[in-house]
Amino acid sequence: MRWGLVIVPVVSVLAFVGCGGRREPTGGDTLRVAPDIVTRRAQFAPMRLTADLSPLSTSDRAALNDLIGAAQVMDDLFSRQVWVGNPAFAKRVAALAGENSTPAQQYYRIMFGPWDRLKEFEPFLGDKTHPLGAGFYPEDMTAKEFEAYLAAHPEARTAFCSSFTVIRRAEAGLVAVPYSQEYRAPLEAAAAKLRSAAAATDNESLKRFLTLRAEAFLSDDYYASDVAWMDLDSPIEVVIGPYETYEDTLFGYKAAFEAFVCVADPTESARLEVYKGELPFLERSLPIPDEHKNPSRGSESPIRVVDLAFSAGDAKAGVQTVAFNLPNDERVREAKGSKKVMLKNVMHAKYDAILVPIAGHVLPSPDAAKVAFEPFFQHVLFHELAHGLGPGRIVKDGRHTEARLELKELYSAIEEAKADVLGALALYQLADKGLVPQAIVDSLPSTFVAGLFRAARFGATEAHGLGVVIQVNKMLEKGAIETTSDGRFRPVAASFRPGLEALCHDLLMVEALGSYEGAKAIVDKYGTVPPAMGALLGGFVTIPVDIEPVYSIGPERSS
Ligand code: ZN
Repeated sequence: MRWGLVIVPVVSVLAFVGCGGRREPTGGDTLRVAPDIVTRRAQFAPMRLTADLSPLSTSDRAALNDLIGAAQVMDDLFSRQVWVGNPAFAKRVAALAGENSTPAQQYYRIMFGPWDRLKEFEPFLGDKTHPLGAGFYPEDMTAKEFEAYLAAHPEARTAFCSSFTVIRRAEAGLVAVPYSQEYRAPLEAAAAKLRSAAAATDNESLKRFLTLRAEAFLSDDYYASDVAWMDLDSPIEVVIGPYETYEDTLFGYKAAFEAFVCVADPTESARLEVYKGELPFLERSLPIPDEHKNPSRGSESPIRVVDLAFSAGDAKAGVQTVAFNLPNDERVREAKGSKKVMLKNVMHAKYDAILVPIAGHVLPSPDAAKVAFEPFFQHVLFHELAHGLGPGRIVKDGRHTEARLELKELYSAIEEAKADVLGALALYQLADKGLVPQAIVDSLPSTFVAGLFRAARFGATEAHGLGVVIQVNKMLEKGAIETTSDGRFRPVAASFRPGLEALCHDLLMVEALGSYEGAKAIVDKYGTVPPAMGALLGGFVTIPVDIEPVYSIGPERSS
């Protein structure tokens, strides 16, 4: 699973201008380019990402170079997974000429294909409809045909539904081809790079993971290397292989190749250890009656804070990930749990490119001047920690159950809003103990308000967006946020922390009681974007939707 900090718009503000569009000459070839290609491309602000390599040994730096080499193979593999036609189409795109050719080529690179990932895969180059099964299935195969084949060949189900096979046509009908066969040559090249990195590093846990992952590329059995990844204790944090299945919009079976090559942040990791030690204190300090507190909730998955040195494939397409939780294999999760990795420099780039301009738009200047990266980052971190606080397993009418099950489809929005406000409250509580710098809580209210607008940007139809709208309405009602005469929003210093505390109480109690009616009442009353907020959101069109990473470590990408 992954988080983007940018919610893909359900209804885009930049409407596509119907059919038509300019046809760019490509040496006898013509390719339709969406007429608003310049605007589309401008949604992604190029941002240089750097990582501090000074904590790395010389041998680990050599390993890092090999890992970047292996990661580059994932770009090619993913491109083929997006669409089998991509390698040939890329040549037509490269040959484009005319005024819109550069943004079209850049957008093609960002999207890893001719379909707009911000617009439900609408084509922006050419007219081809996006194949639901991407490059994983024959393009003319329907879900019905797939199911019919399996009904007639039940013994083929495991291979057909495997995350690590593609489906192709053969004389006898359909056939499942393992990734290790379909992508043999590139996987061998990537495996060689991983082995070279394993030979270079002096870190045993990294050596073990890379060796096992190189074997997995050629055997399609990722279990042992996923387990080794959970045991990774290295200044280099690397994810490489087939992981998420979002790209397969036909069935969601097939995993897409990606890579995150990261360098651990020792300062943040040490801070995080302190914070984790405070989780029992934070649970005891929840603003709800003691009977609803859960001192033995148990530790959640481990969290690591890193800087991203290079990403490739699925990890780099469209909206950039700021955090991920892996592995996805339930057998590994049961045996070893899962690990959350937060990409601090990606968050910093999004902060600079998106949050700062939003703050300037939303807050009066004195408040906008207080917005800062550290409170933004610490709040994101505490949002994650806050998911592990408060009522989870509960007793309702004598039944043992879970808040999640009782709140049903409303749970996500309530839980996301809870994590936001409880995360902010926790920063105040730890500042009281001297564990969080006072400067962070001083700039937290302004940063928090700007952050709400960032998350609400694409409406209230998604859990995070709805959770945010609930917070804004509740904070306005409690006087923790106010609107100014010129239509801006600002935090009210004296009421901000009490407002957070009161809202925390309301949300936690809905979860503690497992009250669907309570959750419904909150969503019904507070789940609509207030007009003053809607007016501000409407002016965000020129603020980038996301960043395009430009890496300063390893080779630059062309164009
Ligand atoms: Zn969350």
